[in-house]
Amino acid sequence: MIEAIDLRKEYGGFTAVDDLSFTVEPGQVLGFLGPNGAGKSTTMKMLTGFLAPTAGTARINGHDIGSDSLAARRCMGYLPEGAPSYGEMTVGAFLDFVARAREIDNPAAARGAAVERLALGGVLHQSIETLSKGFRRRVGLAQAILHDPQVLILDEPTDGLDPNQKHEVRRLIEDMSSDKIIVISTHILEEVEAVCNRVMVIAHGRMLADDTPAGMVARSRYHNAVTLVLDAPEQAASVLSELPQVRKAEIRDGELTVFPASEGLLPAVSRVVAERGWDVAELRLEAGRFDEVFREITKGEAA
Ligand code: ADP
Repeated sequence: MIEAIDLRKEYGGFTAVDDLSFTVEPGQVLGFLGPNGAGKSTTMKMLTGFLAPTAGTARINGHDIGSDSLAARRCMGYLPEGAPSYGEMTVGAFLDFVARAREIDNPAAARGAAVERLALGGVLHQSIETLSKGFRRRVGLAQAILHDPQVLILDEPTDGLDPNQKHEVRRLIEDMSSDKIIVISTHILEEVEAVCNRVMVIAHGRMLADDTPAGMVARSRYHNAVTLVLDAPEQAASVLSELPQVRKAEIRDGELTVFPASEGLLPAVSRVVAERGWDVAELRLEAGRFDEVFREITKGEAA
């Protein structure tokens, strides 16, 4: 379990993380979201013991990251933002070095497993600095999971990866999620919906939302709205506005969206479409739009 207790970081007079408290339980994949400069990396660095908090503390499986740092770090893997240092080392030598530093019991087996999971077999003898950004990211992930930690803290894990590699890393996160605690920071909302079962939004180092992805999406004004693609949307808008189930109709980018005043919007709209014989290219019930919710929550919070 991760416990963040009133975590605070000030750089000079500037407060980057402002008394943040939260806990993360096993089985949770927490997506840590926020605009650039929100304090995500700073929080992750404090959770992993790379940065001392100005005030507050964090505990990993009960071990205080300040006073019991070695025990806390043993149960945690961390992928920092950017690429691993030690660029002149080969991938194999780097992973061996990390295995020794972590005092892993069977380093060869651990290295073999990480290399296989991240498909690094072909670049073991290549120096890290000569690798593509995607490969460097995978080397970073390999060192994070080398000791099979129970807690994984991943700062922008898919940054710099191509779509196939992104997909692979998301699959890896899903694979590992059943018995681990995973915290990922990302600015890709679609990634949060794909792999996370909890979302935290921060800005200016303060918590703005803590919810499930479905809960976040349901905050959208589009939640349970119905969107239609058809000829003459203006005419359809005025007809549908008469329905008691419709609160409002809006046309954007040629698409007509009607917002619910009550339950039963979709069947009511479908009935009108059938009665009028409209030629509808598309008719969909909206779950909600994550990007719109994110913008709404962080509005006016730009760093
Ligand atoms: P995020 O990861 O959400 O983009 P960061 O945690 O990197 O945000 O940064 C939070 C804020 O703290 C930003 O305004 C950033 O400029 C500032 N900051 C980060 N590191 C330092 C530092 N070493 N010295 C001064 N300010 C910093």
